[in-house]
Parts: sequence; C-alpha cells; structure tokens
Amino acid sequence: MEIKIIRSRRRKRTVSARMNKDILVVNAPAWLPEERLGKIVADFTSKFEKKRIKEELDKKQSLPEIAARLNNRYFGNKLKINSIEYVTGQRSKFGCCDYRSAAIRISHRIGLMPEWVRDYVIIHEMAHLIEPNHGSLFWDIVSRYKLTERARGYLMAVGLELDKEELQ
Ligand SMILES: [Zn+2]
Repeated sequence: MEIKIIRSRRRKRTVSARMNKDILVVNAPAWLPEERLGKIVADFTSKFEKKRIKEELDKKQSLPEIAARLNNRYFGNKLKINSIEYVTGQRSKFGCCDYRSAAIRISHRIGLMPEWVRDYVIIHEMAHLIEPNHGSLFWDIVSRYKLTERARGYLMAVGLELDKEELQ
C-alpha cells in the first residue's frame, strides 16, 4: 500500500487517514515524533488492508452464496442461517458459530485459503447449528464432507487452532 504523509503545523492533535484510490493519505501534526506516527500509520495500514480484503472476499467469495450451496449439498437445505460473514479480528480461530442466534463468523484468513479448506470450515460451523459440541454426532455430520481430515491437517499445519471457539 502506498502511503502519503502530510505534516501540518496547523493540525493540533489528531492524526487522520483516508484512502484516495490506492493511496493511504495520512494527515498528522508537525510536532508528532516520527516513531509514534510510524505506529499509528502501521495501525491504519492494517485496518485499511483488512477492510479491503474483506470487501474483496465479499465480492468474489460471497459467504451467503457458498453457505446456500453447502446447505443444499450437505444439509438437505434444512439449516437456517441468520447471518454468515467474514471477520478480520480473529487471530487464532478459524471461525465461530453462535447456534442460538444462528450467526456464523468466518476468519478472513480462511477466505484466502484453498476453496476445499474454506468449504470445510464453513461446513464445520454450519454443523454447529445442529450440534454445538464436538461429539461423535458432530463429526458424523462434518464427515459428509470427504475432505474433512485433509482440511483439518491443513489448518493444523498453518497453526490455526482447531476450534476452541464454541460459544457454549
Ligand atoms: Zn467447532
């Protein structure tokens, strides 16, 4: 990401940032030490980068569409999903499902992985709408997807926790 920093003597306290085409334009007070500004700019950069990734994923790999296809193929269209969306905040978790509100969140990192891994994660979280725990019933459901074991191995290899994330 290209970054343009504009220092201003008139600006008193705040630092602001906006995207102008592909350039991150940062306005900062003249007095602000280089090091502090550097940290602030790094935060802005990562925030905008995540936002961009999320928008791109929403466009190219729409989760509601994928979930509808998987619901049809693996769940006989029986699942009711209230919302399914990418989130950029989760560092070590690949997704989570609140089965009471039928809301599923998928880490944006999953959206950047091969489709067969992504599909596994979505099926995994969808299966929690039927079974919140990781018991044998749960794995029976998930293993309708033939690449389950391979996908779990893949996620383990890249250091994503195999889901301690369930909400009760
Ligand atoms: Zn799980």
